[in-house]
Amino acid sequence: MTPRLWGVPLACVALAVVLPLAGAAGVINQPDIDVFSYGVLAGMLALSLNIITGYAGPVSLGQVAFLGMGAFTTGLVATKLHLPLTLAFLVAVVGSTAVGALAALVVGLPALRLRGIYLALSTFAFADAVDHYFFNVQQLTGLGSGITVPRPHLLGVSLHEASRYVVVPLIGLALVWMFDVRLRHGRLGRALVALRENEDVAASFGVRVAWSKLAAFMASGAVAGFTGALFAYQVTVVNHSSFTFDQSLFYLIIVVVGGLGSRGGVLVAGMLFTALPRWLSFLQEWNFIVASLLLVVTLARHPGGLPSMWAEARDRRALQKGQDDLDAVLPSMGRRRPPKEDERDGSAVGGSARGARLQVEDVTVRFGGVTAVDAAGLEVAPGVRVGLVGPNGAGKSTLFNVISGLVRPTAGRVLLDGVDLTNLPPYERAARGMSRTFQQIGLVKDASLVENLLLAQHCGLPGGPGALFGSGPARRREKEALELAHELLTDIGLASYAEVRVGSLSGGQQRLVELACAIAPNPRLLLLDEPSAGLSPAAAEHLAEQLAAVSESYSTSILLIEHHLPLVTAVCDECYVLDSGAVLAHGPTAEVLRRSEVAAAYLGETRP
Ligand code: ADP
Ligand code: MG
Repeated sequence: MTPRLWGVPLACVALAVVLPLAGAAGVINQPDIDVFSYGVLAGMLALSLNIITGYAGPVSLGQVAFLGMGAFTTGLVATKLHLPLTLAFLVAVVGSTAVGALAALVVGLPALRLRGIYLALSTFAFADAVDHYFFNVQQLTGLGSGITVPRPHLLGVSLHEASRYVVVPLIGLALVWMFDVRLRHGRLGRALVALRENEDVAASFGVRVAWSKLAAFMASGAVAGFTGALFAYQVTVVNHSSFTFDQSLFYLIIVVVGGLGSRGGVLVAGMLFTALPRWLSFLQEWNFIVASLLLVVTLARHPGGLPSMWAEARDRRALQKGQDDLDAVLPSMGRRRPPKEDERDGSAVGGSARGARLQVEDVTVRFGGVTAVDAAGLEVAPGVRVGLVGPNGAGKSTLFNVISGLVRPTAGRVLLDGVDLTNLPPYERAARGMSRTFQQIGLVKDASLVENLLLAQHCGLPGGPGALFGSGPARRREKEALELAHELLTDIGLASYAEVRVGSLSGGQQRLVELACAIAPNPRLLLLDEPSAGLSPAAAEHLAEQLAAVSESYSTSILLIEHHLPLVTAVCDECYVLDSGAVLAHGPTAEVLRRSEVAAAYLGETRP
């Protein structure tokens, strides 16, 4: 994390030393430095938008409204509170940041219900309302004449000249950058990237979907409000005409062209699109058009922007260099060390006390007219491996979704160790030791292998401000999680691809990563949905040994959906057969699979 964390801040500090000297010596004109300051502030605003739209996904059409609220808050503090200039500056910065965060919290609330275009429209509605009912109040914003914000002295030095004030945006950018790195590469950032791609997968890893989205909005609003404060001191006259809707739209284009989610790309795009037209006046009228053209080209050619092209090239190189030892080496995650004593339940007798008891009672799921699951019941005893087989469309995956909390059953209950989970959200179930895989591979394809393995340990990692600002205990836990991630990658033979994005791997490799993710949180109940799909025959064969070994060394209860019957026979002590949503047969695996009605269900014949 270090070069990523310190590179830009160090450059900011260097510029904060050089530019005032260069300005004083007349090497660089004051107006040029002024333009540079605007560029830095624009870069910061673009970074704030990137948090919400780039990392978490929701399109924010009102980012400039947060900037404006921050700027006017600063205006009010500077003119109404009659504080000494320097104190006013500090109060204004803190106040604007808080106002930005609170406003974003309000905007984020609809995000708990709305998605896609509707959510984008609600952010637009907010920005429009702010423009009409807040920015148009004479007492708050001074309307056409605006509010004058006198620049402060800091440490006895007047910041009146552009070549001195530039230090402020540069320090601001350094802070925002470090905040952004911590956010993105910590627990919350991983959760956001997972949400952007697949909410069900994120929730199954234990992410609180609603809360994480709100946190993203607040972080984004806080950065925008903070930028607003520095912007107010930059322009010195805050006028509502700076915060119009087309500006918000412009920043959205900047973030897409810079590369959604790419910190460096977004910063550079924000700075260039703002500074260049001020330097090269002929660009001014064409700025929006040039940006729109670049947007079209980006979307048509590379929706992820230039940075995603680099990332793809890097993945390709890593894949060529690394050895694809998937078939050659027996992936050995089953041989992992058993969990530490203190991770086991108190009464660990031979470990079997860790596995959870799962009871599914009379669960029915209807999708409109389709009854996907029909009064199905099953039980997995602690530490026991149970198979779930049946033809396609039998309702197996739906039943998994009910157990893991992604689908509310129409009727029936799900109990874990006797506790009714039926109304608990997925993250609560993950926190109770439930871990699952998906038929269509439940990973974050756009994140690296290591990031996925860290995401899988989401529940075990501390969250909140401590994690965001890197407190001691949070860092220690994060380090342990990282070690486990690398250990598991070594176990599945993919250690050399740790930084490669999952989407660049083959289906079989992804399947192994998914399995490693499923066991990373040290689950008490493991739900596996067709884990052998996509594996080579050799790897599928090894899978049986690995699953048995995992179950033994962790004493995990396992519920396994599988079409590859030899795998079921090798792994599972018991087996349920599901047909048309109902349990058709249950008993010891070999016996059940021999029965004639089971064969009939599989071959699609009418039942005897
Ligand atoms: P299996 O995993 O055993 O192949 P599924 O659980 O995926 O079966 O599907 C069971 C039935 O439920 C199928 O008829 C499928 O079309 C239907 N189904 C599954 N999910 C949905 C959904 N979200 N909406 C409507 N129908 C669904
Ligand atoms: Mg299925």
